[in-house]
Amino acid sequence: MARRKKVYEGKAKILYEGPEPGTLVQYFKDDATAFNAEKRATIEGKGVLNNRLSEFFMTGLNHVGVPTHFIRRINMREQLIRAVEIIPLEVVVRNVAAGSISKRLGIEEGTALPRPIVEFYFKNDDLGDPLVSEEHILAFGWATQQDLDDMVSLALRVNDFLSGLFLGVGIRLVDFKIEIGRIWDGDYMRLIVADEISPDSCRLWDMETGKKLDKDVFRRDLGDLADAYTEVARRLGVMPQGPTGVTKPTLIN
Ligand code: UDP
Repeated sequence: MARRKKVYEGKAKILYEGPEPGTLVQYFKDDATAFNAEKRATIEGKGVLNNRLSEFFMTGLNHVGVPTHFIRRINMREQLIRAVEIIPLEVVVRNVAAGSISKRLGIEEGTALPRPIVEFYFKNDDLGDPLVSEEHILAFGWATQQDLDDMVSLALRVNDFLSGLFLGVGIRLVDFKIEIGRIWDGDYMRLIVADEISPDSCRLWDMETGKKLDKDVFRRDLGDLADAYTEVARRLGVMPQGPTGVTKPTLIN
């Protein structure tokens, strides 16, 4: 089959030229990486799950007026998105201490934070995506003060939306990462949520048992990653049949 032109290949996704100018096709791979790609694996069905989950979150955000790059899903692994100019910052929102903030500041994992905390990391694999301050961002011109205000506002709206969604299915949204891009409508520039929103980029803990349902299952060798993501999808009512389209056998009494 004639393949569209590849524009970019990352660790978990590939971007191809889209059918119209200003669009791209985003393909979700089964590859999982952690610790700046030092740990790698292929997890069958992960790409299918993340394609569907990212579609679900981004569609919901579009509906509540938070603009995203998502246009429509094309097939099991691909979605049509708006092409954006990615701002070279990872925007992390935290509700509960875990991961790097716990290590850096010595806060026990699981401690509820007094309010959501927004952090910026400079997207640079060679440097290991270092934490940066607004001063760094402004001084080095990665974003303007207006961009920063808009990014914080977008990130907090995404946090409110996702926290509520997960709360409804018994999951605590501990933290997550988003990426934000610029689009132009004529001379008018605005920022929209881009990349993906999936359990690869969130920390999700079961509210009753504390069981991890996110990429920490892979990072910390806690079990089967596809099972964890399938559980998230199932609770949200996304692809209840599972990523292979086959329901697991159930015992009939
Ligand atoms: N995260 C991500 N990509 C990254 C770094 C972090 O998606 O390159 C997500 C991560 O899954 C978690 C949140 O951002 O939900 C905060 O991650 P943290 O800073 O605690 O880093 P980690 O402990 O994952 O190295």
